[in-house]
Amino acid sequence: MSKIIRIAIDGPSGAGKSTIAKAVAKQLGIDYIDTGAMYRAVGYKMDREGVPFEQGEKLDKMLAETDIDFVNGDIVLDGEIVNTLIRTPEVSMLASQCSSIPEVRQKLVDIQREMGMRKSMIMDGRDIGTNVLKDAECKIFLTASAEERAERRFKELQEKGETQSYEEVLADIKARDHSDMTRALNPLRKADDAIELDTTGLGIEEVVDRVIKIVDQINWK
Ligand code: C5P
Repeated sequence: MSKIIRIAIDGPSGAGKSTIAKAVAKQLGIDYIDTGAMYRAVGYKMDREGVPFEQGEKLDKMLAETDIDFVNGDIVLDGEIVNTLIRTPEVSMLASQCSSIPEVRQKLVDIQREMGMRKSMIMDGRDIGTNVLKDAECKIFLTASAEERAERRFKELQEKGETQSYEEVLADIKARDHSDMTRALNPLRKADDAIELDTTGLGIEEVVDRVIKIVDQINWK
């Protein structure tokens, strides 16, 4: 019987977590769970429904009526595929804001743990190795300089026709780093048993290869 492997990938915004995690999942034939997309979906829905970004009855009611799932790699919010709707600079900030509300984290962490129970997967986020899957078989902390992360994000946004300047993207990245690292609840930090991979100056394939090598060192097949 084959064993289950859970790979946790954490790191700051724009370090390349989702690109790398997606490619590694494909190569290993395992599922990929993008937890950032889940916070984006909640931030997007709160904004759309005019729910205040603070603890309260309105938020509790909305969360109780919110269903988030991944179907064939698509993020599905209450039955609607929201892949592109949640990938805007505005929703990035909304996701960061809602992620510091304890009720939001509790709901999403519960769903993530449930997803991580049954099969092999790679899950990326900010608190996967330190909180969601503390007992993951493999933990990687992906970093890159703020300037390189801003450069990558800036190019992505330009390709999508967004008009943010490089300076604005860099300021957004630094603001999100700050709020992700300083929030009281499950802040972004490297788990003691995570392997740190600095991707500054590295191409996607090179990083994927390094991750696969790290995973291969684990005797899981
Ligand atoms: O990874 P991504 O940039 O899509 O995440 C959006 C936001 O969601 C992050 O800035 C962070 O505030 C929040 N997040 C989190 N915990 C996770 C994943 C994302 O707080 N596990």
